[in-house]
Amino acid sequence: MDVTVHSLTNNPTQAWKEISKGQKLFKLNVKIPTKPVDADKVRFVCMSDTHSLIHNIKFDVPDGDVFIHAGDFTKCGQRTEVEEFNKWIGGLPHKHKIVIGGNHELSFDKKFITAFKEKDKGSDTEDDIPNYGKKSANIGDAVNTADITKFLSNCTYLQDESIEIFGIKLYGTPWQPAFGNWAFNLERGEECLAKWRLIPSNVDVLITHTPPLGHGDLACSGVRAGCVELLQTVQTRVKPKYHVFGHIHEGYGVTSDGKIIFINASTCNINYVPDNLPIVFDMPLPKGCTKV
Ligand SMILES: [Zn+2]
Ligand SMILES: [Zn+2]
Repeated sequence: MDVTVHSLTNNPTQAWKEISKGQKLFKLNVKIPTKPVDADKVRFVCMSDTHSLIHNIKFDVPDGDVFIHAGDFTKCGQRTEVEEFNKWIGGLPHKHKIVIGGNHELSFDKKFITAFKEKDKGSDTEDDIPNYGKKSANIGDAVNTADITKFLSNCTYLQDESIEIFGIKLYGTPWQPAFGNWAFNLERGEECLAKWRLIPSNVDVLITHTPPLGHGDLACSGVRAGCVELLQTVQTRVKPKYHVFGHIHEGYGVTSDGKIIFINASTCNINYVPDNLPIVFDMPLPKGCTKV
């Protein structure tokens, strides 16, 4: 089914009131497994929104086959932050490490950087520039978008891209419905949907920075921040087994609509304390695939 823009796309809270009438919603309690993963399964370990606070983490990151970070690993995409994160992720034991960007990775978004440079030339006021960026998002300290993979040498960075691991298909994308003046912002509706149309239909594990509508997207203000068209794309076309995201720190946790498992893996809570545990799941290896 072709997904089109929902009439309430700009009012996700109201949209969910309508859409949820025809939806199942389960909250799942997921604990970190104490036993090693079975030979015929792939263990995924998910984190998100660590915001350069990895050294404040008090838990051990569980071992597994694939580590996923769903974006916002920095405060403002500074070179030193990216270097520090790359060093940290390099020390993790997982064989595969998949990372996407989030709205805080300012220097990863070409459009944001161009607009920033323009603004910098033209005015003394920096009112529209994110708080973290006011003094520090200085272009000289940013990562050049062409060099992202050089800086993230200890992991695989996905930006509107797929990867196949042990026969399992993953896709990662950093975009979200406009949220203040940050990176990877798009207008709700057609602009967002155009990015979701790039997601292949055969993805098993989808990684976005934004939550879809209705799952892990309830902000403490009572407003839903998720994307309506992302939910519809995920439920009616892509139908992944897992959808991993972050962004709304207070939405941390695991839910399901009865078919797809939705994981908000935000490590930082609403107060930017990195206390939420990684979320771990085991997925059976596809037929004929091995981990060797
Ligand atoms: Zn965040
Ligand atoms: Zn975010």
